[in-house]
Amino acid sequence: MKLIFLGPPGAGKGTLAAKVVDIIKVPHISTGNIFRSAIAAKTPLGLKVKSIIDSGRLVDDETTIALVRERLGQDDAASGYILDGFPRTIAQALALADFSEVDKVVNFDIPDAGVIERLGGRQTCRECGTNFHLVFGRPKQEGVCDTCGGELYTRDDDREDAIRRRLEVYREQTAPLIDHYRKQGLLVDIDARPDAGEVVAIFRKNLGL
Ligand code: AMP
Repeated sequence: MKLIFLGPPGAGKGTLAAKVVDIIKVPHISTGNIFRSAIAAKTPLGLKVKSIIDSGRLVDDETTIALVRERLGQDDAASGYILDGFPRTIAQALALADFSEVDKVVNFDIPDAGVIERLGGRQTCRECGTNFHLVFGRPKQEGVCDTCGGELYTRDDDREDAIRRRLEVYREQTAPLIDHYRKQGLLVDIDARPDAGEVVAIFRKNLGL
């Protein structure tokens, strides 16, 4: 099954993806996680994108499309994937259609207030990218990832000015993808406001899983 997870930052795309990969047995491919790993490893890609990501803007289409094209060419993605955070522009969506045919686009429906509440207080694992939250989903041990024992930190782009910028970027550049995919009959809406367990149930029901 080839899925796109589409929605504003903080909608819970990464959290849901981490839960449903066990159900549908496909890799979770997050462009944000790939960029953050490159930044941590100080690769040429990481050095190039760090200041863009920290400020809440989008990495250029050419770089991002090349990265996803290469990743989807790997063996584990041959029969399916969850693309989390890609495409984020119409140009990326058109490019993707040239090299892969998606089955469904899951649209995470959540108002801005919910996004701001979730991103403020979010903590992310430096090693595996799992998200926790100081109010909604605390780790068992403070500052330590439940999944892999890695160190938890606040992403630079989860600070207030960057959150505002990311929401603006989402509205201007990414939200038009909702209509783009709805017209193609690929969109499945899910209410992303409830807690993670309930969103998994809504996801299964709406996708008939
Ligand atoms: P995310 O973890 O999905 O919130 O992504 C974090 C940041 O990585 C974004 O704010 C962008 O700067 C960058 N990024 C991730 N995916 C894309 C994409 N498809 N196109 C451009 N930039 C991206």
